[in-house]
Amino acid sequence: MSERMVRQFMEMVRIDSESGNEARFMEYLLGAVTEVGGKAALDDYGNLIASFPAKGCEGVEPILLSCHGDTVKPGVGIEPALGADGVIRSAGDTILAADDKAGIAEVLEALRVAPVRPPIELAVSRQEEVGLLGVKALDFSRLTARRGFLMDNDTLDTIVIGGPSYFAIDVTVTGRSAHAGMEPEKGINAIRAAAKAIAALRLGRLDDETTANVGVIDGGIIRNGVPDSCTFLAECRSADHGKAAALAEEMTKVIRREVESTGAKVVIEVDEKCRAVRIPEDAWAVEIAKRALATVGIDAKAVFITGFTDASIYNNRGIEMAVVGIGAQNEHSTDECVAVADMEKAVRMLVAVFRMAAD
Ligand SMILES: [Zn+2]
Repeated sequence: MSERMVRQFMEMVRIDSESGNEARFMEYLLGAVTEVGGKAALDDYGNLIASFPAKGCEGVEPILLSCHGDTVKPGVGIEPALGADGVIRSAGDTILAADDKAGIAEVLEALRVAPVRPPIELAVSRQEEVGLLGVKALDFSRLTARRGFLMDNDTLDTIVIGGPSYFAIDVTVTGRSAHAGMEPEKGINAIRAAAKAIAALRLGRLDDETTANVGVIDGGIIRNGVPDSCTFLAECRSADHGKAAALAEEMTKVIRREVESTGAKVVIEVDEKCRAVRIPEDAWAVEIAKRALATVGIDAKAVFITGFTDASIYNNRGIEMAVVGIGAQNEHSTDECVAVADMEKAVRMLVAVFRMAAD
């Protein structure tokens, strides 16, 4: 099983699919899914949705499996290599793309080898890494499963049961330009106005479940000019949706007050990217994942993370999704790697999930 899976994994990571550029990889996947007995199509956004009939059981509820098909950068020209230690790494200066192609390879292998399974639906999203854009545009009318598993956690010993609400705040400050030496009094310094606003914000860890940050600032063109434009990108998140929403409003108010006190103008765009989710630790998907992982000797813990995954959107849409591990390490770096033994464990876990879900 592992030779075939490793070969397919390597084939997949050699097909470039940085976010926004997944078309060729999705074409490949259409073929790969058909090869293992699925019916697959792309939705209008280019996400792949497939279904597989039940095997060895009848009248059982379908489950959803999901992965994402895009990768972070640098993800062009990936050359995977399997070391003598049984670990697959990228040979060059790219990521490996185990995130999330190891997950896809494991799902395809589990579909090949599992003797028993409920009806399976598979969704592979585009543009997950750039703000869950694919899953937000997914054609949910093609899914009937009400619960399932997102194969997109790195380690096998944790099961992600939730993530925070997340607000992105884009700020554009407009002042007035003037010569910095000749007539500075005629100008309104947009950088100073933005700086005043940022200095007045509460940033960092605000309580045990709430954070805020300013991550990017950009402004001005020349040293000797009073800058008339400055933009900055802020964010806030909380496990409590109400707190995140209130904080986004507070940040907006503070920014407006401080910028306008300098005579500059400000445009603030607030985008609610994601709504907080926490599924109970005794939810079906979490219990099944725990029991399946126990069959491969892993005592997995349920965890809440401060980042987010496609599962947040599935759960927001009423599909109970737990996030389980694929065995990858050092994701989003050129040191990303995956041990074949961990990929095999993930496959055995999926086979056990199928068996339990078919019971
Ligand atoms: Zn991922």
